[in-house]
Amino acid sequence: MRILVVEDEKRIADFIARGLKEEQFAVDIAYDGEQGLYLAEINPYDLMIFDIMLPKLDGVEICRRLRLKKINIPILMLTALSDVKNKVVGLNSGADDYLTKPFSFDELLARVKVLLRRLTANKTSVLKVADLELNQLNHEVKRAAKTIILTAKEFALLEYFMLHLGQVISRSMISEHVWDEQFDSMSNVIDVHVRNLRNKIDDGFKKKLIHTLRGSGYLLKDSK
Ligand code: CA
Repeated sequence: MRILVVEDEKRIADFIARGLKEEQFAVDIAYDGEQGLYLAEINPYDLMIFDIMLPKLDGVEICRRLRLKKINIPILMLTALSDVKNKVVGLNSGADDYLTKPFSFDELLARVKVLLRRLTANKTSVLKVADLELNQLNHEVKRAAKTIILTAKEFALLEYFMLHLGQVISRSMISEHVWDEQFDSMSNVIDVHVRNLRNKIDDGFKKKLIHTLRGSGYLLKDSK
């Protein structure tokens, strides 16, 4: 899952980004509204967090412009304390939720998780395929009821695969959703991570779940 944070107060932006990265999200930061809008238009984010008061272009305006372009990714707005008018304007412009400053990281994370869960058709936080289970809340992964320890990136990859069950996942989809802007697309880092993930998920099991499609990417499926 990849998140865009647009916040001009560097301290707050970094605080949010650091926390989200620890929760295995890929995160990009913009420090003004124009750059935020630009990134929001060119990258396929899963969720965006906008401060309302921003230089160049405010959060409400970014939100309005994205919605006009039919970009319907969940948006969480950050507002100054007791700024009731901004909240109303924010929600009218198409934001999905707002959070009043100051907030704790846990409050922010809870809102983020609720918004992301709306994306997935099933409301449960446990994703399942065959005998493989991934818990999005506590990050526990099990196959045949045995716990599997994954790195942060392997977890993010598997979560992405499980949310796109039965779909062909290209390397560029993975680089766009699981890695952030610092990602070097020329490297073989995705293949290495998928190989490691597959070793942990499929090794020792008769039924293989992660499949490589030569030339097009990967596919997670419950093969019969
Ligand atoms: Ca601000």
